Amino acid sequence: MIPVEEFQERATSWLAEHRHLAPRDYGAICPPELIEPAVRWQQLLYQHGYAGIHWPTEFGGQGLSPAHNAVWQLECAKAGVPAVLNMVGLVLTGGAVQMFGTPEQKQRHLHATLRAEQVWCQLFSEPGAGSDLGGLSTKAERDGDRFIVNGQKVWCSGGRISDWGILMARTNPDAAKHDGISFFLCPMDLPGIEVRPLRQMTGGSEFDEVFFTDVELPAEHLLGPLHGGWNVAMSVLTNERGHIGTAVIGLERRLEQMAAMAEGTELSPTGIQDLTTLYGKGLAYRAMASRQGPSASTAASLLKLGITEMMFAAAVLRTEIAGADAMLADSAAAQGLLSAPGGRIAGGTSQVQRNIIGERLLGLPREPRPSS
Ligand SMILES: Cc1cc2nc3c(=O)[nH]c(=O)nc-3n(C[C@H](O)[C@H](O)[C@H](O)COP(=O)(O)OP(=O)(O)OC[C@H]3O[C@@H](n4cnc5c(N)ncnc54)[C@H](O)[C@@H]3O)c2cc1C
Repeated sequence: MIPVEEFQERATSWLAEHRHLAPRDYGAICPPELIEPAVRWQQLLYQHGYAGIHWPTEFGGQGLSPAHNAVWQLECAKAGVPAVLNMVGLVLTGGAVQMFGTPEQKQRHLHATLRAEQVWCQLFSEPGAGSDLGGLSTKAERDGDRFIVNGQKVWCSGGRISDWGILMARTNPDAAKHDGISFFLCPMDLPGIEVRPLRQMTGGSEFDEVFFTDVELPAEHLLGPLHGGWNVAMSVLTNERGHIGTAVIGLERRLEQMAAMAEGTELSPTGIQDLTTLYGKGLAYRAMASRQGPSASTAASLLKLGITEMMFAAAVLRTEIAGADAMLADSAAAQGLLSAPGGRIAGGTSQVQRNIIGERLLGLPREPRPSS
């Protein structure tokens, strides 16, 4: 296996040569309007051996280690390009199919996802089930060799630009709530699926509502055990939190930009203090993220909480430094502020991360749970 340092050098020079072909670094979720350049970028990564860095070669990956993957993410962040097309396909779905997929499912989805032939979205949240995902009510009823799906999903990032979705649905309404859920790989073009865009306060429209009306989903798309979807989802979500943790690298770059911006500005003593505190936190989280091993752990919650709260604080401070006028004159500054709260909600809210940290890391008494 190529040593990490050598791989890093190779990646750095490849990125220097090819970064002009990439869309801007949009983070974990590809905005609908960038899907075409993002797909071309993912295809280029695949052709040049930078897709699925730590996926086994039998699934189309590079067979390298998580340390190589971390270095790739770091170099992409420094170059200001996305490391993967989107997190749902390349982190969540890829991880879930490798862990729980049948040989046919692996064959069908893993290479194709690396080559961006299958773009994925996440169909978990519902109007009545977000933090309490176990309360979801979309139903999938077995009918011979298919399931009939009825219900509604919401906050589906990039639903309208996706070919497939990872779907959680209730298959046994009589079981205790977490025991009656199954996990599916769902083609988005099945008859009866209707995707409706939602408008955000940024003015953009990155999310969709997705309605299922008597959708006939072939049973071969069940991933993992029937009624055992909760465990599949939990492993997927812990991957998501771990991935959000790597965003600290991008954050450090943003903090550096902010420090540079402050250079020409008269900062108040408290402004200087806030800026240096945030910068120090950024470095600490980066160090912590680099120690996070390949297996997801509760530390992922710590990183997810710390980083997204820090990004929010950074956006607020940036606004203060830029001044109120910049909110009218500079749409990037306004966009940054308006989109900042989303990170504290996506992938499990800050309050829910605090519960996990309190209970599992600190051993505090359990929070009351909604009735099961
Ligand atoms: C940018 C972004 C992208 C997203 N993309 C997707 C996607 O692609 N697919 C998808 O399925 N979903 C997606 N979501 C939805 C996201 O997963 C949910 O918004 C999130 O899980 C919270 O659920 P909710 O909105 O229903 O809020 P609720 O769960 O109703 O929470 C409301 C408030 O109550 C608090 N709260 C709830 N339970 C507890 C508790 N036990 N203890 C303490 N406080 C609690 C929460 O912290 C929050 O402040 C996305 C969200 C965002 C912001």
